[in-house]
Amino acid sequence: MKRVGAHVSTAGGVENAPLQATSIGAKAFALFTKNQRQWKAPKLTTSSIDAFRRNCSDGGFKPEHILPHDSYLINLGSPDPDKLQRAREAFIEEMQRVEDLGLLLLNFHPGSHLKEIDEERCLQLIAESINMALDATKSVTAVIENTAGQGTNLGNRFEQLASLVDQVDDKSRVAVCLDTCHLFASGYDLQTTEAIESTFQEFDRIVGLRYLRGMHLNDALQPLGSRIDRHAGIGKGTIGMNVFSYIMNHQEFDEIPLILETPDSAAWSSEISLLYSLER
Ligand SMILES: [Zn+2]
Ligand SMILES: [Zn+2]
Repeated sequence: MKRVGAHVSTAGGVENAPLQATSIGAKAFALFTKNQRQWKAPKLTTSSIDAFRRNCSDGGFKPEHILPHDSYLINLGSPDPDKLQRAREAFIEEMQRVEDLGLLLLNFHPGSHLKEIDEERCLQLIAESINMALDATKSVTAVIENTAGQGTNLGNRFEQLASLVDQVDDKSRVAVCLDTCHLFASGYDLQTTEAIESTFQEFDRIVGLRYLRGMHLNDALQPLGSRIDRHAGIGKGTIGMNVFSYIMNHQEFDEIPLILETPDSAAWSSEISLLYSLER
């Protein structure tokens, strides 16, 4: 079964995320477990955690259908030792929050070299950061998201994702999330059936589909290879509907969170229905 959902709001507390997901007909959801633009956050209260777990079980959301996203401030490949240290501490805290909530996945963007170190060194630092976080926690899987390759962000090429996975010691706790907008922006064509098949075959050959634990379903505002990270509503951008139809009809994408991060939250419920209507 396909698990389509959206990155929902936690206004009023994390426990509201599963309620919002239910209200839009989602069968999966993503959330920030803290304010994504701040470093510090108060610890989650027991009552908030209990309510979160109860609302998830009432809504039929299992931990593998819930894809928390870390803060945008964290650069796990920072060339600056102090900033790297701070990012690593914050990332471990995020992983601990995920564990406190009884969840299994933490989705993050690999990091940026800021033109101060080379790509290879930056990838080493990121992998080291992931290894440290896995050592400091028990059960969370680090889910690396592919990026649009905007600025000096790494993770836009499958080879870079593969290099990270390769350098992580515990392969059972590392995974990948593919964002369709980021794929397209970074130059992986998703417009025709042939192009879609060859993109996913290339991912399978270089990284391995067995590592795919989530997808972000977004159309793109900019053309193929723009390296500009601007999401568009489903069917309202430059990618078109073929890739969404492909995902909804292939079993490699069963039972993993398929998360909308499209700009108009008022459209999520209709976008979810639209995606389910593509199933043959
Ligand atoms: Zn992301
Ligand atoms: Zn994304």
